Amino acid sequence: MVEKIDVSARAAAIEYAIRDVVVPAMKLESKGHEIIRLNVGDPLAFEGLPTPVHMIEAYKRALDSQDNGYGPSYGIPRLRQAIAAAETAKGWPCSEEDVYVTHGVTEALQIIFAAFLEDGTKVLAPGPHYPPYMAYPQMYGATTVEYRLDQNDGWRIDFDDIRSKMDNSVRLLVLINPNNPTGNVATSSEIDQLIEIARDYPKCTIIADEIYDGLDFTGELCSAAARSNDVPVIVLNGVSKVYFAPGWRIGYMAWHDPDGRLSLVRDGVERLLRSRLCASTPAQHGYLAGLTDEHGWLEGHRERIKQRLEYCISRIEGIDGLECEVPGGAFYLFVKIADEGIKSDKQWVLDLLHQHHVLVVHGSGFSPEFGKSHFRMVCLPPEDVLSEAFDRIESFLGV
Ligand code: PLP
Repeated sequence: MVEKIDVSARAAAIEYAIRDVVVPAMKLESKGHEIIRLNVGDPLAFEGLPTPVHMIEAYKRALDSQDNGYGPSYGIPRLRQAIAAAETAKGWPCSEEDVYVTHGVTEALQIIFAAFLEDGTKVLAPGPHYPPYMAYPQMYGATTVEYRLDQNDGWRIDFDDIRSKMDNSVRLLVLINPNNPTGNVATSSEIDQLIEIARDYPKCTIIADEIYDGLDFTGELCSAAARSNDVPVIVLNGVSKVYFAPGWRIGYMAWHDPDGRLSLVRDGVERLLRSRLCASTPAQHGYLAGLTDEHGWLEGHRERIKQRLEYCISRIEGIDGLECEVPGGAFYLFVKIADEGIKSDKQWVLDLLHQHHVLVVHGSGFSPEFGKSHFRMVCLPPEDVLSEAFDRIESFLGV
């Protein structure tokens, strides 16, 4: 008998519900079943939401001109300048030096957590949230505590809950705006309240994940960094959602540190960035074209997404046993399974998958506490695919 080598406790604790559910789906696909996948927020998986051609051409030009070497660790200068200009246009003074280009927002998160967190520190993140906010901090001896988004109030932030959970061990207070999975968009006065709370804790930095910012349908979205004159805010964004190129794996963090209190941790971030070399050089040229060329194309993509979301909402409204809040942004619905007797939302999702071949993600994968008895569905497919998915969901529920 071979003695197996143990996996580290850190790796064994990692869960990423959005892709973990793909494992049973692939088994069914290998047996010839056709699965409607509504699990991953990837616009490219569906018709009508392509990466803009001028971005692809810029990427190709970089490849053709042999711009395939290692780039600078913090990002190519022209892209850093373009990001700084885009952030400044949102209302805060961002310079090229404040911007670090990463291998997607997900890598930015790993670097931030590695630089900020120690044993016994905390991250305060919305519940529900994008899963890495809970999965990664434990690798650094920290814990993620969830603050409540109020399902009965359009998933708005529950500020009393935040206040009750704040203390001096909280290093990072996370705002995901628009939120994944709920689609809630925070108002400027809500962001002000968040900043006011953080102000009382000098070791606390706000993380503002604004990766869905161009997909705000409320007209109320504002930059969290632009609202703060003192509390540090790190803005996260990238090419994945609003520039429709998630496979390019390019994102950024932009540091708004008005009184310079983050200089030591920033030095750590720069060390970490140098140690992992750089983000993909040709892909940065593609993103640069997206940021600097005209944005007229985005309106068509937004309109298509809005129509698909509206179709999904109308179908959910017609199904006894399912309920959802109308999202203000992004492209998900976080649907409540109104069955009092439901024991496990994960089992519900697996039963739907096995019996009717529709793949969604269990809500507890986004928050063990505030997401249970829900599922998240991606509303990006064209209407005929969504229609078939909802017909199958109705058959599953027997309605
Ligand atoms: N942040 C949020 C809130 C997300 O929902 C996602 C992906 O779904 C990401 C970040 C991932 O960003 P990236 O593709 O840049 O790693």
